[in-house]
Amino acid sequence: MTLIALAVPFFLLALIAELAIDRFRRTGYYRSNDAINSLSAGILSESTGYFTKVVQYTIWGLVLSNFALFDIQRSWFDASVSGIALWVLAAVLWDFCYYWSHRLGHEVSILWAAHAVHHQSEEYNLSTALRQTSSSFIFSWIFYVPLFLIGFPTDVLITVGALNLIYQFWVHTQHIRRLGVLDRILVTPSNHRVHHAQNQAYIDKNYGGIFILWDRLFGTFAEEADDEPVIFGVRKPLANWNPIWANFQVYDYLLFDAQHTRRWQDKIGVWFRRTGWRPADVAEAYPKSPVDLDTFQKFDPQISSTRRAYVMMQFAVVIISALLISASFATQGAAAIFVPCLLLWTQLYTLGLLNEDRLYAARFELVRLAIIVPIGLFAMDESFLTMTPLLWVFVAFYVLGSALWLRKN
Ligand SMILES: [Zn+2]
Ligand SMILES: [Zn+2]
Repeated sequence: MTLIALAVPFFLLALIAELAIDRFRRTGYYRSNDAINSLSAGILSESTGYFTKVVQYTIWGLVLSNFALFDIQRSWFDASVSGIALWVLAAVLWDFCYYWSHRLGHEVSILWAAHAVHHQSEEYNLSTALRQTSSSFIFSWIFYVPLFLIGFPTDVLITVGALNLIYQFWVHTQHIRRLGVLDRILVTPSNHRVHHAQNQAYIDKNYGGIFILWDRLFGTFAEEADDEPVIFGVRKPLANWNPIWANFQVYDYLLFDAQHTRRWQDKIGVWFRRTGWRPADVAEAYPKSPVDLDTFQKFDPQISSTRRAYVMMQFAVVIISALLISASFATQGAAAIFVPCLLLWTQLYTLGLLNEDRLYAARFELVRLAIIVPIGLFAMDESFLTMTPLLWVFVAFYVLGSALWLRKN
């Protein structure tokens, strides 16, 4: 089991604790629709990762076995002083690579298209931390290749990479304000709030993962100012609750510009130039309205309380399904979980529709409920057929109970 999978129960407990504090203090940092969308993006990222992460592992493995400069032994990373020093060195170097991966993830259009998902939430809480992209597998592994070229063992690097990501979880909160000297050395809630801002003063700042020192060194640091409250989100809002589309939105903008510009240099430039750059002919023919943060309104369609309760119940099913799929992946591999993942992704999509209060949302949800058993029977054959009678009763109860509940709201 990976370190991140082990951390998931702690993430969920911390999230519930922060939600309770939010309700107790009446701070209003959580909205169920936004939190569900962020967690849906996280679940999508994790579950697509079962099929896509093989790309980075394969390439890293090839680099390490064919081009490594030093023969660094895994046994050197033990509990001795020199072993711990090596672990720290690997973690610091990983963080340095993360800084550049993250910085270019904002500054280069095609990399921003992948990373933007993490920034689409207009709230800022622990659920935002789990809001991760599903397409970073295309490019982000490149930034860590130098570490494999040096010759660090794969499992050491994967461990420090996971710890780097786990560290970043706690900084996604508004309940911790300033931390004095820590704000000067580490990435802290205050520093990272700045990073999630769309305020002009805060744009493209604070890229660090664990250490904020990189930002201070390379001129990308900005301090949270009391007279500049952070407005969270991106300047081209997602404006829907579809976690799948969240992963395509910026690619779609870039594709539009690439298709409509005349010069072939610009068709390529659209993808690889600085984020926000547009070819002159496209910018003239299809101008974008300027951003006015004074009139900024969060995307927040209202739904009935019974509909919200239905969505919450289904989201609990999503979390249980995602955990079961994670356990199946660990024991049976990717092929065995492909169909369950398809069903999971369909459910994430329909929950988005329900939260948007689309006219056809309930019909779409009924179709989803209706296909669970046939798909299970035809596509999952053995694993579905060999379920115990108790599980069959549970599935029947879930499908029929959900359909009846849905008709009532
Ligand atoms: Zn970022
Ligand atoms: Zn973040």
